[in-house]
Amino acid sequence: MITILGAGESGTGAAILAKEKNLNPFVSDMGSIKPMYKALLDQHQIPWEEGQHSAEKILKSDFVIKSPGIPETAPLIKQLREQGTSVISEIEFAARYTHAKMICITGSNGKTTTTSLVYDILRRAGLNVGLAGNIGSSLALQVAHEEHDYYVIELSSFQLDNMYDFKADIAILLNITPDHLDRYDYIFQNYVNAKFRITQNQSPSEAFIYWSEDPVIDAELRKLDIKATLYPFGQNKDNHNIAYVDEDQMIVATEATRFFSIPTNELALHGRHNTYNSMAATIAAQILHIKNDVIREALQNFKGVEHRLEYVATVRNVRFINDSKATNVNSCWYALESMTTPTVLILGGQDKGNDYSEIDQLVREKVHTLVYMGLHNEKLHEHFDSMGLQVIDTNNIADAVYQAYQAAHEGDTVLLSPCCASFDLFTSYEDRGQQFKQQVRNL
Ligand code: ADP
Repeated sequence: MITILGAGESGTGAAILAKEKNLNPFVSDMGSIKPMYKALLDQHQIPWEEGQHSAEKILKSDFVIKSPGIPETAPLIKQLREQGTSVISEIEFAARYTHAKMICITGSNGKTTTTSLVYDILRRAGLNVGLAGNIGSSLALQVAHEEHDYYVIELSSFQLDNMYDFKADIAILLNITPDHLDRYDYIFQNYVNAKFRITQNQSPSEAFIYWSEDPVIDAELRKLDIKATLYPFGQNKDNHNIAYVDEDQMIVATEATRFFSIPTNELALHGRHNTYNSMAATIAAQILHIKNDVIREALQNFKGVEHRLEYVATVRNVRFINDSKATNVNSCWYALESMTTPTVLILGGQDKGNDYSEIDQLVREKVHTLVYMGLHNEKLHEHFDSMGLQVIDTNNIADAVYQAYQAAHEGDTVLLSPCCASFDLFTSYEDRGQQFKQQVRNL
């Protein structure tokens, strides 16, 4: 018998794959299980429980598959570890049953965007490819029901934490900035180590694509003996970068497909951070021998991902951009950096211990009005008010959008890039983004 802890998308998928492989799965969730997943488990005759963990039974499991949402500090996980039971992630489990090539993307910011872009390129190239990890349906469910030749997988540090034998054929590490430290004993190095697990088990036949100008990645590479073939990218041609920017052209030149260049203003994804994401995706595509023409078409036409620097509308010559997914200060930095007009910035929400000084300079350069939107705006007042910009205090989305619109001049941009989690006023960042768009449409 094996146990699957947590019956969300990944847990349910893992249970169905386990059932198919005759592993006698049992599913246990401390919270309540969504009706959709209950129905799926019933349909596959998989026993489940909710609102509790039957420890006695679970401790007898041959091994356990854990949802990335459950921390290592959970008492049951500690008990399992103490008695030597192996606890793995759904991705680790599913990968045992497929020979598909794995293209895996991690980083503190840009994962979903880059994963979606790589997937888009591979699909345009006509490859039989699945999208998995934090997006779409679980890898396990796809392996059980619709086997693909390639998987493009978004991996969070929590997923990487419980991966041991898994090997990425192509690993992409976009950047590392402090995030989720509450899950890593507030030790940044623990989080860094989790991210670098994406390179474990790789040999020179596999590829490691990374942002070479990231000081954290750079320091780590000096310490570690990475076996994979390295594909660094960055702003400049230094650092042996395979991809870089030269006179407003994004250049990528791996040995596989040779020289590729595209003007950065032709890239569908705007802003410097997105040029990095486009570089990483292009290198991966070239390693897979996808033709430059196909890559170019994808880079020019990619639709982007909802809530990430998403263009909403222009109302009386004021542009509205939804960057609700910017739940930390670093992603807001990149959003501001990509602004080409005077900006009204809407920010605030549930603070995760933010240090706002990272965006001070860009706020001074680009922003004329700050609209605070949260239940607790005190920290924002404390940090920004002394800059002398116009400041507006709000505690709901309707007011925030209206006031931002009033403060904007013709030709300006109103940017929602909150630096914070959404849970004080919204159910999720998606909810926040959707309500923002609705309010803009109501103007
Ligand atoms: P993730 O899946 O890692 O959370 P997303 O693609 O959803 O990343 O983007 C989240 C936020 O990070 C967006 O607000 C976006 O503007 C910003 N962002 C995207 N790519 C990068 C990057 N390479 N570096 C820094 N910030 C980025």
